[in-house]
Amino acid sequence: MNRRQFLLSLMTSSVALLATETSRAGLLGNDQVAFNKESYKYHKLNCKWAIKCTRHCIYISRKDAIARGGVPCKVCGG
Ligand SMILES: [Zn+2]
Repeated sequence: MNRRQFLLSLMTSSVALLATETSRAGLLGNDQVAFNKESYKYHKLNCKWAIKCTRHCIYISRKDAIARGGVPCKVCGG
């Protein structure tokens, strides 16, 4: 491997690492919930009500759901 190839492989692997870190941070930091625009309840994505809620629910972060006046679902706790 020459120096150029080495640098290129180093760059590629650090980009891949960065992408992994970003998506991991996104999963933890974003904390998506299903927010019901009609009832203002928000659900964990695996909540049965979130799964049933297809017409009025939007997928946003929990922070945004709270900012919109959302209240946590009593079943899943939001
Ligand atoms: Zn729920």
